[in-house]
Amino acid sequence: SKTQVGFIGLGNMGKPMAKNLLKHGYPVIATDVFPESCKELQELGAQIVDNPAEVADQADRVVTMLPSSPNVIEVYTGPNGILKKVKKGSLLIDSSTIDPAVSKEMAVAAEKMGAVFMDAPVSGGVGAASSGKLTFMVGGVEEEFTAAQELLTCMGANVVYCGAVGTGQAAKICNNMLLAIGMIGTSETMNLGIRLGLDPKLLAKILNMSSGRCWSSDTYNPVPGVMEGVPSGNNYQGGFGTQLMAKDLGLAQTTATNTKTPVPLGSLAHQIYRMMCARGYASKDFSSVFQFLREDEEN
Ligand code: NAD
Repeated sequence: SKTQVGFIGLGNMGKPMAKNLLKHGYPVIATDVFPESCKELQELGAQIVDNPAEVADQADRVVTMLPSSPNVIEVYTGPNGILKKVKKGSLLIDSSTIDPAVSKEMAVAAEKMGAVFMDAPVSGGVGAASSGKLTFMVGGVEEEFTAAQELLTCMGANVVYCGAVGTGQAAKICNNMLLAIGMIGTSETMNLGIRLGLDPKLLAKILNMSSGRCWSSDTYNPVPGVMEGVPSGNNYQGGFGTQLMAKDLGLAQTTATNTKTPVPLGSLAHQIYRMMCARGYASKDFSSVFQFLREDEEN
């Protein structure tokens, strides 16, 4: 029978991911600072413990899915962190989107304890997390990739090896910078078209058969009523929070600064998502930039 897998961080993404490990027959031992998030997993048979150290004490493979860099530092190196109790030879996989420099620091700290740390951020959102169709971008020691893959294929359709630790984060940060730019571009385009008298559904249909087509226009359209089953049709609830997108754009800025890379549109996208956070959009889906651009109408 399969041995226990640890899971830390049972939020929008972590909960459905851990459920898929259970579905594949892995006993799961989990924790989250917010006790309410643990309930459903406990009912499905997972063992719930008080803190990350207790998870690492019992499982020699641990997946973490946390909001941002400070949470990852806390969960790995804090007073009740994984590294306090980690067993030699353990495999630690972090699927959070964080600063690649922090991933590298965690890998060094893990190595000192005789464990292996890999970064494996995901693309795909809550729907893909539930259906086990995520894309994992994996960075770390290549010899450990097969071991990581065994777990990650239970939760994802694509598991891609990117290179040394931190390169998974690099791929993820680049993807999300383009996603943010595309979402803002789609939103301002749709808004202009609507104000020029076009029906939004018709405009989306034309874009999607033309050269302006992109993921934000054809699978995640930000205009309410254009598509079913996306956050724009549900008052921008669920999905990928504006605050998380602002964080990812901040990571892109940091890495661009460090490498002296010009990213003018990424920079502007970062500012727009930060302004949205300050104006009440923080926990709404990031496609609510469409609503933000239309605020002038309410005045
Ligand atoms: P979330 O805020 O819904 O979940 C994070 C969970 O971590 C929460 O349940 C929180 O209580 C828990 N947590 C925080 N600090 C903790 C600690 N010290 N110990 C234990 N648990 C702790 O976030 P999410 O939407 O699940 O996203 C997680 C990560 O995945 C983020 O880095 C995000 O950028 C990335 N991501 C999200 C999506 C998406 O669509 N939501 C898609 C791709 C990637």
